[in-house]
Amino acid sequence: MKCPVCGEDCVSMAHELLDRVPSVFSPCPDCPSRILDKGIPPPSDGYREPCRCGKRFIDEVYAHIYAVLVSEGAFTGTEPLKTVGTPLVHPGFYMQSPPYLPANSLVLLSRPMEKKAASRIIQEVPEVRGVIKYENFIPGVVDPDLSAPPRTYELLAGCDIRANIFPSRAGPVVLYQQQSKTHIEFPRMRNPKIESVEREIARIHPEWFTDAFCGIGKLGLVAGRSGIAHVVMNDAWYAAAFFAAYNTLVNKEFFKVDEVRILADYAKMAEMPVIGEPKLIAETGGEQDIRVYQGDYRRLHTILPALPVLAALDMFEKDDPARSAEALRIWREQVPGEAFIP
Ligand SMILES: [Zn+2]
Ligand SMILES: [Zn+2]
Repeated sequence: MKCPVCGEDCVSMAHELLDRVPSVFSPCPDCPSRILDKGIPPPSDGYREPCRCGKRFIDEVYAHIYAVLVSEGAFTGTEPLKTVGTPLVHPGFYMQSPPYLPANSLVLLSRPMEKKAASRIIQEVPEVRGVIKYENFIPGVVDPDLSAPPRTYELLAGCDIRANIFPSRAGPVVLYQQQSKTHIEFPRMRNPKIESVEREIARIHPEWFTDAFCGIGKLGLVAGRSGIAHVVMNDAWYAAAFFAAYNTLVNKEFFKVDEVRILADYAKMAEMPVIGEPKLIAETGGEQDIRVYQGDYRRLHTILPALPVLAALDMFEKDDPARSAEALRIWREQVPGEAFIP
C-alpha cells in the first residue's frame, strides 16, 4: 500500500505483516551474535556486516550507527553505545530476546543526531528506515482541553512509519503510526488497557462503542475486532485521527465490512492539526459500522445517536485524577450509557 508519509510501498495489510512475525527477527544458523556492552563504547575493531541471510544482530547495527556518528563528529568515541538512541523496530511486538534486524526494520530515536549524520545512516546502514531527533516532550496532543499547543519531533531522514502489533482476545490488531508525530508505546506481554476494554465489552455487550481519545485506534479497533456493531473513534490530533482511519483499512479483513473509505488526505489534515467540531475522516460500508472522526471529545455527542454508548476515555492526563473525573463528568452529561477510563 502507498505510504502516506513517503509515498513508497512501505505499508502492508495486517495479514501480510502478521505472517512475517514468527520469524521476522530470528537469526539463521549462520548469523553471528556478538553481544556488546551498551554501557561502554563499542570495540575498536568496528562493526560486522550483515549476515548473508540479510539480517544483523541489533548490537552490530548500533555499532555501525555509532561509527557514522564518530566519523561525522557527533560522537568523540568515548560515549557509551546506548547513547546512540532508542530503537523502535518494525513491526513492534512483545519479544523475549533482542532482534536480528532485516533491512528497513528500525526507526531510531536519537538525541545526539543531526541531519547530515542521519542522511548518511539512511544511506549506509541498511536496517535503518527512519531517524528522528528525540527531545524531552511527548509528541501530539497531551491536553484533553486542547489548550496546550501540540509539538512533534523532527524526522531527520528516511520514513518513520512503523507498526506495532497488539494481541487481543479476538486476535491481533496492527497499528501503523508516524513515529515523530505520535507518542511512543511498546507492546508488552500484557496490555491492561485492552484487557479493561474487553472486560467492559463482555459485561455490557454494547451496540455502540466509542474510543473518544483514540490515538491511532488501538482500543477502537480491538472493539471492532470483537464484533461490536457500531464503533466510533475520535481524536483531536490529525496524526492520530488519520492513522486510526488508516489502521481501520489495514485491519479491514478482521471486520464485517465490505469497504473502508478514507475521506481525508494526511498532508491536507496537517494544515489544521487540531480541530474542535468533529469531522468524519473514515467510514466503513457493510454490516459493521466503524467511523473515525477528528475533533474535540466534548463535541462528539453531536454525531452520536441518542442511544446508550459504551465509551472508553483513554485520556493522556489520566494520571491526573481531577482532570479525568472532570472529563468523565462532561462526557456523562452529554452521552447516555456508560463511560470508563481504561
Ligand atoms: Zn513510508
Ligand atoms: Zn543469518
